[in-house]
Amino acid sequence: MKALVKQHAEPGLWLEDVPEPTIGINDVLIRVLKTGICGTDVHIYNWDRWAQKTIPVPMVVGHEFVGEIVEVGSNVNDFHAGDLVSGEGHVVCGRCRNCMAGRRHLCKDTKGVGVNRPGAFAEYLSLPMTNVWRHHAGVELDVAAVFDPLGNAVHTALSFPVLGEDVLITGAGPIGIMAAAVVRHAGARHVVITDVNPHRLEIAERVGVTRAVDVRSTTYADIQRELGMLEGFDVGLEMSGNPAAFRDMLANMCHGGKIAMLGIPEDEIAIDWNEVVFNMLTIKGIYGREMYETWYKMSVMIDSGLDIGPVITHRMPYSEFQAGFDIMRSGKSGKIILDWAS
Ligand code: NAD
Ligand code: ZN
Repeated sequence: MKALVKQHAEPGLWLEDVPEPTIGINDVLIRVLKTGICGTDVHIYNWDRWAQKTIPVPMVVGHEFVGEIVEVGSNVNDFHAGDLVSGEGHVVCGRCRNCMAGRRHLCKDTKGVGVNRPGAFAEYLSLPMTNVWRHHAGVELDVAAVFDPLGNAVHTALSFPVLGEDVLITGAGPIGIMAAAVVRHAGARHVVITDVNPHRLEIAERVGVTRAVDVRSTTYADIQRELGMLEGFDVGLEMSGNPAAFRDMLANMCHGGKIAMLGIPEDEIAIDWNEVVFNMLTIKGIYGREMYETWYKMSVMIDSGLDIGPVITHRMPYSEFQAGFDIMRSGKSGKIILDWAS
């Protein structure tokens, strides 16, 4: 079958012929229909420090997908050929304290699809049945293809109550923009999203934010004055990994404010801890998605009108992956979908 492979320990990805995956008794075999390109895939493409120490070569990459089950292992009773599914990209150990307690997203020994085990940028993918999510009828394929990053957005956005709250989102990447749509859907009052990339701020405007702010030209004080906010933001969602963005967020939270942190900083970030202590802030780290509460919420919110359509800006056949990665790396896109079926 065709697959996008990290074939060599250098920048790039290679379209290769590789053997179709086999399935064990607890696995399902999925024919991949569409995939999304994730920031993680770009790190792997670029072969940065993180990728070099994490990815064994060769490796079929990719983890955002929707597909159709074509075969199930002999132990699998709940899934059937023909089911439209996506997959949780974190394969947990099942045996650690948190896994045993049912808190699987807190597993101490997570393996990543397309990172530590063969991924979804391929015609077929084998996945344990415990990692499969069946879609509700009527879901759009492009939207279903990005359930994994939508799950990051939902997990972060719903970490703290947002109904009636003023929410600051730093970073209008695909995940930040989806989080903006989610908190809007969940009843936030003001949703302010920031970035330094005008293309991305323009996309953010399309999901109904209160303000999409270029922090290079507008101050937080201006925005808060304009919106009549007297005490700072109630909830912060850090989705840039950028030190300046995080520091600005800390400085603009209300007393007792809650911050959920998804963005991955490249290096250590020094902050003024007095702001955390005296403003009595709560900071929660977020990794992945809750299994499967986040997935449940995603399906139900999509059913009830959550529209993340605007975040999907490009669609192309998998054979044009190089163009897809070039656009992703330029920062002039939202989500890019690769089609594996046509
Ligand atoms: P992305 O890189 O596409 O988006 C980050 C955005 O932050 C970019 O648009 C960038 O221009 C913007 N930014 C840079 N400096 C800024 C500043 N000073 N103020 C405001 N914005 C600024 O990433 P994404 O795919 O949307 O993911 C968001 C973040 O979440 C990334 O850091 C990613 O690595 C991380 N992530 C974490 C998990 C997890 O499980 N914790 C999962 C997926 C992604
Ligand atoms: Zn575990």
